[in-house]
This record gives sequence, structure tokens and C-alpha cells, in this order.
Amino acid sequence: MDPKTLFREALLERIGTPPSENVPLSAMSSFGIGGPADLFFEARTEGELEAAVSLAVAQRYPFYVIGGGNNILFDDSGYRGLIVRNRLEGVVLGEIRMSVLSGTGLPCVLREALGASLCGLEFLAGIPGTVGGAVFGNAGAYGWSIGEVLESATVLRPGGKKETLSREEMGFGYRDSALKKSPGIVLSATLLCSPGDSRESEAKIRDILEKRRAKHPPLGTACAGSYFKNSSSGTGARIAAGTLLQQAGACGLAVGDAAVYENHANFIINKGNARSSDVLALAAELKEIVYKMFGVRLEEEVIYLRADASML
Ligand SMILES: Cc1cc2nc3c(=O)[nH]c(=O)nc-3n(C[C@H](O)[C@H](O)[C@H](O)COP(=O)(O)OP(=O)(O)OC[C@H]3O[C@@H](n4cnc5c(N)ncnc54)[C@H](O)[C@@H]3O)c2cc1C
Repeated sequence: MDPKTLFREALLERIGTPPSENVPLSAMSSFGIGGPADLFFEARTEGELEAAVSLAVAQRYPFYVIGGGNNILFDDSGYRGLIVRNRLEGVVLGEIRMSVLSGTGLPCVLREALGASLCGLEFLAGIPGTVGGAVFGNAGAYGWSIGEVLESATVLRPGGKKETLSREEMGFGYRDSALKKSPGIVLSATLLCSPGDSRESEAKIRDILEKRRAKHPPLGTACAGSYFKNSSSGTGARIAAGTLLQQAGACGLAVGDAAVYENHANFIINKGNARSSDVLALAAELKEIVYKMFGVRLEEEVIYLRADASML
């Protein structure tokens, strides 16, 4: 039996549901780009996620775990292995903290917090994706990021070990966490909030959403958020990648259907039929013009998943 069939049969036997075959990844990504994954599986329980990962590791079958697909560029040729979409969803509210399963959407986390008059998560307003994806990349906006409100996260290592890591052990930095160096799948997280007035929270959220609406591409535009990370100057001050790009003349540049959004130069949008190769070529051109003008090397925030990569 070939490795794909072997894996498919083994997962079917272990959990009673087979992974799907040849699933277009364009449908799994806010960019709307990507060819077929050989195998695709939605894990709805921790047991299913663990089974898929441990089998993949045991059979040395390539795999990769995604959340909402809002910060990822899939390959035009798809993925030669198993894509696991994390659908572990659930929230438990405490007096000053919330425990959330990692596949829970950030809008749901915010709604639950608001309903329980728990404050401090307002900065998440308008950021799409799951808790797991947000923890992996330390997502944030307007001066706050999820690492600052995280008390602990439980992580599954590809070898099968489960660890509960403190905020310090998660090694958060700007759009960075220890999971980028030492692979681990976030299973759940505990977020620290403070009791407050939900009307004040609502007002903050409205304000943030208004600011985002004015700056970002309209809702539904195919993109993956800011393409590049902001960089820092010699003195450590943050320099917005969008400003550098705009001053370097990025607005209006395009390769195929991949184009720089006219009102915010750090957004690459898919105007219809963009391919990952178009996005990568445009991104390379953008890095080049910024380097030529400012001597700054921009670093990608969006994760590019090559067809032959693996979390192994
Ligand atoms: C319109 C738009 C606006 C955005 N605005 C912002 C913003 O203001 N601030 C910001 O920070 N980001 C922003 N983003 C990017 C995106 O929303 C965040 O990066 C988000 O955290 C991605 O979550 P996800 O579940 O979609 O992750 P995915 O895109 O599915 O995955 C991204 C990475 O996270 C990893 N990952 C996913 N789940 C897990 C898990 N359980 N354990 C370990 N690793 C995991 C994946 O392997 C992958 O490497 C924006 C995106 C869009 C489309």
C-alpha cells in the first residue's frame, strides 16, 4: 500500500472517520489560494487531533496543523501529506480568566468575554482566526498581543508529550512564540481578564472596528492580513512596514492577480485568480524596493506552507 492509503486506512481504523482526499486548500485559506491537500482532516476532539498526529509521526507521514487559515499562503501544488484543521472549540468562564480550546474563533472568545463582563481582550476585535493560530504567532493589534493576556497554554508536542507552558515559557515576542522554534500544537489556553463594565468594552471594540474598517481592505477581500512584520530602527522604535512600502512606491504594484492594496501597502490581496507564485514574486519585489530605498530587510508575517513541508 502507498503511504497515503496506509495512513488513511490507519486513521479510519483508529477513529472511525477517514480523512478526505484531494481537498482544495484555497477553500481553507482567507487568501483563497492553494492546490489540493492529499489528505485533509478536521479534528473536533483532542482525541482525534492526538490520533492524527501520533499516527502521522509513527508512519513518518508529513502533516501540518492549521486553524482558520487567516495567516497562511498555501502552495499552488497543494500539500503532499495531511492537513489537520483544528476544530477543538469551547470556552469555560471563570471570575477573572477564561479557558479556551485552541480551535475556538477569536470573535467567539470576545463575545463570551463581553457577555461575562470580562475586560482586557478588546484588542482582539476584528482579528480573524483561532486561539491556536493567535498564540502561535502572538497575534495582536493596537499595542496589545495575546501573549500579554495569556496565563498558560497546553501544547501537544509532535512526539506525543503534553506540556502546560507558562507565559514566560511560551517565549512571546513581536508576532513570535517559542512554538516557531520548537514545534508544538496548542490544545488550549487560559487567558487572564479583569472584571469590568461590558458597555465600556463594547465602546472600545466599536472604536477599534471603526479604525480597522478605515484602514483595512473591505470585509471579504481575499488576503492574509499584514504580509510583512513591522521592523525596528536602531533605537528599537517600531517602523511600520506599510509606511516603508508606501514610501518605496509599492502601491499599484501587482503580479498576476496578486496586488498591493491601494490604501494599505502592507496588504497583498488576491484579486481573483492569484497563485502562490504570484504572491511570492510580488513579495520578493516589495522586499527588494524597500531594501533598495531604506536598507531594511522586511520579514514575512504570513506563513508560506510549501507542498513538501511538515511539522515532523
Ligand atoms: C483581514 C485580516 C486581518 C488581520 N489582522 C490581524 C491583526 O490585526 N493582527 C494580527 O496579529 N494578525 C492579523 N491577521 C492575521 C491572522 O488573523 C492571525 O495571524 C491569526 O492569529 C491566524 O489564526 P488562524 O487560526 O487563522 O491561523 P492559521 O492561518 O490557520 O495558521 C497560522 C499559523 O499558525 C499555526 N497554528 C494554527 N493553529 C495552531 C495550533 N493550534 N497550535 C500551533 N500552531 C497553530 C499554523 O500551523 C500556521 O503556521 C489578519 C488576517 C486577516 C485575513
